[in-house]
Amino acid sequence: MPENASELIDSFGRRHTNLRVAVTDRCNIRCFYCMPAENVLFKARDELLTFEEITRFVRVAVKLGVNKIRLTGGEPLVRQNVPELVRQLRAIDGIEDIALTTNGMLLADHAQALYDAGLHRLNISLDALSKETFERITRRQGLDQVLEGIFTAQRVGFSNIKLNAVAMAGITEDEVLPFGHFARQHDLEVRFIEFMPLDADDAWQRDRVLPGEQIRSLLEEGIAPLTPAPRLDPSQPATDYVFADGRGKIGFINPVTQPFCQDCNRLRLTAEGQVRNCLFSTEEWDARAIIRGGGTDQQLAQLMQESITAKKAGHGIDSDEFIKPQRAMYQIGG
Ligand code: SAM
Ligand code: SF4
Repeated sequence: MPENASELIDSFGRRHTNLRVAVTDRCNIRCFYCMPAENVLFKARDELLTFEEITRFVRVAVKLGVNKIRLTGGEPLVRQNVPELVRQLRAIDGIEDIALTTNGMLLADHAQALYDAGLHRLNISLDALSKETFERITRRQGLDQVLEGIFTAQRVGFSNIKLNAVAMAGITEDEVLPFGHFARQHDLEVRFIEFMPLDADDAWQRDRVLPGEQIRSLLEEGIAPLTPAPRLDPSQPATDYVFADGRGKIGFINPVTQPFCQDCNRLRLTAEGQVRNCLFSTEEWDARAIIRGGGTDQQLAQLMQESITAKKAGHGIDSDEFIKPQRAMYQIGG
């Protein structure tokens, strides 16, 4: 591949530097906004890219300007030996940042090894601090395990941990203030994410979205005023705030009520090696066929570029022409 291979710039001028890599589609819980309750059709293990295949893909992506990687899934920590993948990725010149998104269920066991492998940024998903709501959403038990995972991660050295909390009308309003207090007590940022139409059961409806602005009002009325935090990365999906007394950071990811597609710099690689240019893409580009079919790095680079060239301006959730992707969140990589 030529050294001056072009960057991943789409037809709207957005430069793609951020790659989300799903390492598995499996999961140890069953959040209703992501997975079906039962009869989940997981990919056969030999369909998933190996660590070496992922690393090769990333190496090519880095030549095209990618410098940030996030490992996700499914639940990444159900795959064996993720710290080894972190080590392989860290060895690639040009990667400035590696992060991982996890549901935290297995984190207490793996936090130290991940940290030692060189992972220093963690997002932990937790939608409720009450057991009842946690179990209603995840259809599993495990709140204490997740809390233990969070505190273990802090103990081994992870700082600036972000908690991702999906917000759903009629379900999580009562979680908002406890999360505000939790952020203040434990030096964490809690990020509320609006429920998106990416569930497997077609349960999403516009009126089940709990808008970020409503959550902000609840926090300001119930705890303290929030003041905007400096926006360090213009393409970050979250708008961050701090409580006016300086204790506790809160972020809002409002893809439904305040879409941020115009600043999107993300592309995705699914666990079985398909490139996606958007969470809501209805099309995929088959990198695994190139990787396993003896294709060249140049062909892989072209595939990434084709996918980025085809990227639409936005997800269009509110448009009459919106088509919900056939694949649910756990199959895409959040
Ligand atoms: N299993 C890991 C976890 O839950 O953190 C990583 C994968 S998960 C698909 C990534 C993120 O997507 C999680 O924070 C999850 O809450 C979020 N997510 C999943 N489905 C969603 C939906 N329909 N709307 C909004 N966020 C969603
Ligand atoms: Fe699993 Fe994460 Fe999906 Fe929940 S959001 S079912 S933890 S992959």
